[in-house]
Amino acid sequence: MQLAAIIVSLLLTVVGVALISRAIAQIVQHVRLGQPVPAGSRTDRWKQRSLTLAREFVGHTRMNRWGIVGVAHWFVAVGFLTLGLTIVNAYGQLFQADWIIPWIGTWPPYEVYIEFIALFTTLGILTLMGIRLLSLPSRAGRKSRFTGSKLGQAYFVEYVILIIGLAVLLLRGLEGAIHHVDGYEASYWVSYPLVAAFRDLDVSTLQNLIYLTAMIKLGATMIWAITVGLNTNMGVAWHRFLAFPNIWFKRNASGAVSLGALQPMTSGGKPIDWEDPGEDDVFGVSQVEQFSWKGLLDFSTCTECGRCQSQCPAWNTGKPLSPKLLIMSLRDHAHAKAPYLLAGGGKTMEGEERASEEQLKDVPAAALAEAERPLIGTAEENGVIDPDVLWSCTTCGACVEQCPVDIEHIDHIVDMRRYQVMIESSFPSEAGTMLKNLEKKGNPWGLAKKKRLEWTKEVDFEVPVVGEDVEDLTEVDYLYWVGCAGALEDRAKKTTKAFAELLNIAGVKFAIMGGDEKCTGDSPRRLGNEPLFQQLGAENVAMLNMAFGEDDEDESTKKPKSAKKIIATCPHCFNTIANEYPQLGGEYEVIHHTQLLQHLVDEGRLVPVTPVEALITYHDPCYLGRHNKIYTPPREIIAKVPGIRSEEMHRHKERGFCCGAGGARMWMEERIGKRVNNERVDEALSLDPDIISTACPFCLVMLTDSVNGKKNDGQAKESVQVVDVAQLLLDSVKTPTDPEPPAATADAPEPEPAPAAG
Ligand code: SF4
Ligand code: SF4
Repeated sequence: MQLAAIIVSLLLTVVGVALISRAIAQIVQHVRLGQPVPAGSRTDRWKQRSLTLAREFVGHTRMNRWGIVGVAHWFVAVGFLTLGLTIVNAYGQLFQADWIIPWIGTWPPYEVYIEFIALFTTLGILTLMGIRLLSLPSRAGRKSRFTGSKLGQAYFVEYVILIIGLAVLLLRGLEGAIHHVDGYEASYWVSYPLVAAFRDLDVSTLQNLIYLTAMIKLGATMIWAITVGLNTNMGVAWHRFLAFPNIWFKRNASGAVSLGALQPMTSGGKPIDWEDPGEDDVFGVSQVEQFSWKGLLDFSTCTECGRCQSQCPAWNTGKPLSPKLLIMSLRDHAHAKAPYLLAGGGKTMEGEERASEEQLKDVPAAALAEAERPLIGTAEENGVIDPDVLWSCTTCGACVEQCPVDIEHIDHIVDMRRYQVMIESSFPSEAGTMLKNLEKKGNPWGLAKKKRLEWTKEVDFEVPVVGEDVEDLTEVDYLYWVGCAGALEDRAKKTTKAFAELLNIAGVKFAIMGGDEKCTGDSPRRLGNEPLFQQLGAENVAMLNMAFGEDDEDESTKKPKSAKKIIATCPHCFNTIANEYPQLGGEYEVIHHTQLLQHLVDEGRLVPVTPVEALITYHDPCYLGRHNKIYTPPREIIAKVPGIRSEEMHRHKERGFCCGAGGARMWMEERIGKRVNNERVDEALSLDPDIISTACPFCLVMLTDSVNGKKNDGQAKESVQVVDVAQLLLDSVKTPTDPEPPAATADAPEPEPAPAAG
C-alpha cells in the first residue's frame, strides 16, 4: 500500500506542479497582452490598496452581503489558504505513517485550528454545494444565478474541496489513534470520535489507512492542479489566486466600487488628447487585446458566481445581456486567442495581418480561427459579443456593485461601445436623433435654448439667471443646475418647479444658468460618443468656471472646490459634474437636491406640516444610489412628512432595480423582453402603494410611462401617483391655504423618441 501511495502521489504531484506552474506563466502572459494603464492609476497608494485587499478578504466584505453564502465561502477560502501545512504533513505520512511536522505539528493551538478549519471548510463547501443544487438552472431557469456558468467545473472544484476536507479530518483521527491518544483532548476536539473508532486497530492497519488517506488527499489536490493547469480559463478555480491581484489593482485604492465616473479614454495607456489626437490612437476596443491588462485580469478572475447576473435589469427582463456571460465570453475568447497574439499575431486598423506566415506557423488552428472572430458581431457573424448584448446595458452598476472580485463591467462595455460608435458608427439608430440634437442644440430634444427658461415663468417668484439677474455666482449660495429634462420635459419640470419653490420658501439664494446650460454629456458618453461628451463637457466647464468668477486659464484665480457649490435635481447631471468634470478641469462641490432638502428640513427652514395620508414606496435612482451612495436623504425627507407610511420594495438601496433609462437606453427602443420600467413598476405595485416616489427626472418619466400604461390596462389603480420627493415635500410644506402653483404649459415637449410604455 505504502509504495503504491508514494508512486501515485508523487507522479500526480510532478504532473500537477508542472502543469499549474505552466498555467501560471500562461496567465501572466495572457494578462500582459493587454494595453498599459495610465501610470500609477492602478498602483497608487499601495499601503491603502493592501489594506483594502486585507479588509475585503479577511472581512469578506463583498460576499457577506449574501448572508450564509458569505460565511460558508469565508471558511472555504481561509481553509484553502491555511490547510497547506496539512499537505506537507500528508507527504511526510506517505513515508512514515506517524510523521508529524516538527515543532508546529504538536503545538496545541495549531492542532485546534486545523481541526476547526477542516470542519468548517467541509461544512462550508457542503453549504455552497447545497445552495447551488437548490438553484440549479434546470429548476430555476433564467432566475438561477448559475445559468450559463460551467457547472461541471463547479461540481469538480466543490467535490475536490469536500474530499480534501474529509481527508484532513480522517487523517487527524488516524493520527490520534497511531499516537495513542486515549482520552478526549482539545487538540482532537473535532476528530476525537474518529480517534476513538480507530484506536483498537492494529498498527499495520492504521499505517495502511494513513497511506491510503494521504494518497487520496494528495491525489485529489493534484488532480485539481492538473485540471486547473490544463484550463487557464477555469474561473471557478483560478479566482482563488487571481482575486487577490484583481482586488489590489482595482480602480479605487480606497476600496470604493468602480462606479460613478467613467474612465477617460486612453490609447496605449495615455489619455487621448481630444484637441490633437495622435495618428496611431486607438479609439475604444474592437479586439480583445485592446482592453487594458486590468481588463484581461478581470475576465480571468470571474468566478462565474452569477451575482451580477442575478441583479442585472437586462437579464431579469429577458434581454440577451448577462454581465457574467459577457465577462465569460471575453475571457474564453481572450484565452483561446492568446497563442495567436503571443506569436505576434494581430490586425491593423485596416484588418490586415501584422504577423508573417513564419511567425504563425506553429499557432494552433483553433487559435487562428478564434482570431478571426469579430469582437462585436451576431451569432451568424460568429461574433464574441452580440450587438444586442452590448446595447442592452443601462450602466446601472448593479453588476459592479455585487461582484465579489471587483470586476469593472461597465468600463469594458463602454469601451466596446466607444469603438462601435466612433469608428463603425454602428449603434441603435434611434439614439442618432439624440446625438444630432445634442450637437446642434445642446439638449437631447433639439429645442431652442430659450425654452430652458420657460419653467421660470410658471412659478410665482423670481428665478435669477446668471448673466441677466445676477452678475456671477458670488452673489448667491448655490447654482441650481436644472438639467435638460428638468428644464424641458413636462413631468420633470414639475420637480424643477417644486424644488425651486422649496428653495424660495426656505430663503436659499440660488441662480440658474438659463439658456447657457447644455447637456452635461452623460448620455452620449455612456453611448460611446466620447468626443461629443468632451465637447459638451468642455463648454459647460468653461461656462461654469466663468460663472464662478474664475479664469480657467489662470491657476492663481482658481477657487477651492467648496466655494463653487452646485445643486442638481438630476442624478445623471450630479454624477457627471461631480465625478467626471474634474477630468475636464471642473472641480465643484455638487450636491443633490435631496441632500439639500434634508438639510433644510433638519434645520427647520422647511417644515412639513400638512399630512399626506398615503402609502409610499421609494425607487432608488441608480446614479444617485449605487453610483453615488446617496440612499438616506430621500428616505429621511419622506419620513418627515406627517401621515405618510413608507414601505420598501424588495429590491432597494444597493440592490435597487433600474428604471431602464440609464446608459443612454432612454433614447433607444426596447424591443427585446419585458420593458425594464414595467418590471420595476410591477414590483412597486405589488405593495399597492398610493405614491411611487423617486429623485431623478429620468426615473420619473420611465416610471410614469409604465404606471400610465398600467392604468390604461386596468392593472394599476387610477389614484397611483409617481412623484419626485421634492413634490411630496412641497405638498406637505405648503398649508392647504397656500396658492397652487400655475399648471404646466401644454406645449412642453415629449422625449423624442418617446419610450413607449406597454
Ligand atoms: S450595468 Fe446594469 S444593465 Fe449593465 S450589465 Fe451591469 S447590471 Fe446589467
Ligand atoms: S459577480 Fe463577478 S465574479 Fe460573479 S459572475 Fe459576475 S463578474 Fe463573475
